[in-house]
Amino acid sequence: MKRVLLAGLGVVGIIVVVLAIVIARTMMLARPPAAAPAGAPIAVNAIGVAQHLAQAVRFKTISYGGGAHEDEKNAALDAMRNWLAKTYPNFHRVAKREVIGKSLLFTWKGQNPNLPPVLLMAHMDVVPVVPGTEKDWSHPPFSGDISGGYVWGRGAVDDKGCLIMILEAAERLASTGFTPTRTVMVAAGQDEEVGGAGGNGVIAATLAQRGVHFAWVLDEGGMILDEPFPGVLRPMASVSIAEKGYLTLELVAHGEGGHSSRPTHDMAVVRLAQAVLSVVDHPFASGLDDIQREKYEAIAPFVPFPQRMLLANLWLTGPIMDRVMETQPELAARLHTTIAPTILAAGIKDNVIPPEARATINFRLHPRDTIESAIAHVRKAIDDPKVDVIESKESPSEASKVADIHGRAYTFLTEEIQRSFNGIPVAPDITTGATDSRHYLGIADDVLRLDPFHFAPDDLHMIHGTNERLAIRDIGPAVGFYMRVIQDWK
Ligand SMILES: [Zn+2]
Repeated sequence: MKRVLLAGLGVVGIIVVVLAIVIARTMMLARPPAAAPAGAPIAVNAIGVAQHLAQAVRFKTISYGGGAHEDEKNAALDAMRNWLAKTYPNFHRVAKREVIGKSLLFTWKGQNPNLPPVLLMAHMDVVPVVPGTEKDWSHPPFSGDISGGYVWGRGAVDDKGCLIMILEAAERLASTGFTPTRTVMVAAGQDEEVGGAGGNGVIAATLAQRGVHFAWVLDEGGMILDEPFPGVLRPMASVSIAEKGYLTLELVAHGEGGHSSRPTHDMAVVRLAQAVLSVVDHPFASGLDDIQREKYEAIAPFVPFPQRMLLANLWLTGPIMDRVMETQPELAARLHTTIAPTILAAGIKDNVIPPEARATINFRLHPRDTIESAIAHVRKAIDDPKVDVIESKESPSEASKVADIHGRAYTFLTEEIQRSFNGIPVAPDITTGATDSRHYLGIADDVLRLDPFHFAPDDLHMIHGTNERLAIRDIGPAVGFYMRVIQDWK
């Protein structure tokens, strides 16, 4: 009896301690950390910049991934580079310009060229408009219309938006006779939307050969979220400190071919179907990582008490968050390596059993997995000697290293964001797609990603989708942001 009573008291004691920790942590995160003070306003002629962006949108630099359209795209890239030279004469005067492939690399030599340089990146190419959806656009996708407070068109955000803002910032500083303390480079890729091998892949290899090593690289990828958490209507900058890896595997199943009137128990199509199901039914390890934990801790001060209790105590509530995130593909992709079967191929005629069947599966690797470990995982899941697992040559890349959020680059960028965007909170995140910045991972201390534009939850659909547009009110702060980044980095 006494023992039961003691055990009961023990349990009560544990509950009291856990509750005390939960409440203490919730109280601790009631207030956001101090933000950098707002910087002196930088006046920008947003309409003038909008007109430049509109012109940039009109160049049909569409990446189809080779084929018949390549000449058209190259001509558009040539025209766009010439237009950039005319539009940004002061920057072209102070910076060395190199055309590498069809891409651009600018080197703006700093006063202290011995310090590691920094790299600002964007890409000139855009994804195609899905045939049949042109009519859904409020303004034709390559019109570059300026209407209703927006610049409309494919690439207005991704990524001519970033490119034009970077060049406007550099042009303005160059026209005042400013010289950066450190060397600033700007890279504008030609083929990011199809892997970037011919553009930034070559630029990065060239720079590696020259022995260039960057203090940091800033590319597209993060964003300013108007609603960073359901119900939290307070903008927050989400800076991407890592990027998922990319792997495509082809499964080739073998079986007995022959006449369909005499099927055997060894058919390639069935074997393949089982293999695909086995892969999908063996998901990769999943769960909140340090990046997501940091992100939710940064959001915690801005949510009501009950939700804050959840976000401030992920050591206890992590499994609940995992389950919530799993229900939303965009968030679930942050928890684990994703598995997406994309192509199936077998057979040539309805009455012929094919001896071979193929499936293509695309994986986006979480930093806890590698290409090698993912392939081993897939082979083990399939466990069938008559199914070959072949690595596709489709630009595989490991997940990126994770930038240090206590490091100089992230701290610097956080301050510049807060100076430029009214002291908004900044949180880390991971980019679930692939960007050109991955080519620089080997020659940079830190790689960070941000599109300095506001996104409402619905706006995410326009990237690679319909009605892509950039708000003119985003232009001034974005140009000011890049100006500060160039000016303040010492
Ligand atoms: Zn992009």
